[in-house]
Amino acid sequence: MSQLKNENIFTIDVEDWFHILGHPAVPTIDRWDVLESRIERNLNIFLELFRETDVKATFFWLGWAAERNKKLVKLCIQEGHEVASHGYAHLMIRESEKEGFRQDIVHSKHLLEDITGLPVHGFRAPGFSITERTQWAWDMIKEAGFKYDSSISPKKHGHCGVPGSALAPYKIQTQHGSLIEFPMSVVEILGKRFSLFGGQDLRLIPQWLIKLGIWHLHAHNRPLILYIHPREIDPNQPRLPLGFMRRLTCYGNLLGTFKKIDWLCRHFKFITMGEYVLTI
Ligand SMILES: [Zn+2]
Repeated sequence: MSQLKNENIFTIDVEDWFHILGHPAVPTIDRWDVLESRIERNLNIFLELFRETDVKATFFWLGWAAERNKKLVKLCIQEGHEVASHGYAHLMIRESEKEGFRQDIVHSKHLLEDITGLPVHGFRAPGFSITERTQWAWDMIKEAGFKYDSSISPKKHGHCGVPGSALAPYKIQTQHGSLIEFPMSVVEILGKRFSLFGGQDLRLIPQWLIKLGIWHLHAHNRPLILYIHPREIDPNQPRLPLGFMRRLTCYGNLLGTFKKIDWLCRHFKFITMGEYVLTI
């Protein structure tokens, strides 16, 4: 399915500093409203860079955050970007919570469509949490009306990941028709898979290695799919009381990450995931 393409895909999971996953110190949804929001400040920095470098990106908005930042959601559309869904309440997909997942994604989709006045085609699960055991989620995602999904890590990723799954974008047959899956970009060398292009990896891995990784992806006819959160360029965000390792992975190199993003935007062509779907 994949052809040689110069286009890469820039994605942002739009959520706040208190939406880190999988730690008991992370506040529950009933406390989110009283916390300082850093989304507007951080997202405006990305939007300014994208204007300057003519990058078009896909913004996977968390529904809860979109509801509180409607002008900013609309601004993304006005500037030629794509608005997609990151669910409403930042729920990881779990075997035991199928109905809750269905309600969450349908609610988030309708909410974003009401704000933008446009259909929302893309979905990304929090924590790349479609695993071998939760692939029923694809049926629900398609049934909800999404055209593509980007919720798979083709290597182990925290408690998630589907090691051994396809590396390039591919079609999935669901009970409700076909869905395009965009797996997280990884580099495969001698059978080992490495992620370099999103979140903590993008922040902590040196730029020269990321550059080599992009060369590797392109040499294998795969697009670079970049993902980042607004908080990852924000050295002044409040800190959650995490343990040493989580502090490193969540807060490491916040100061230097924007420089890398700036470099990427000036050296590579990025389009939205929705635009890329049209080329498949
Ligand atoms: Zn998230």
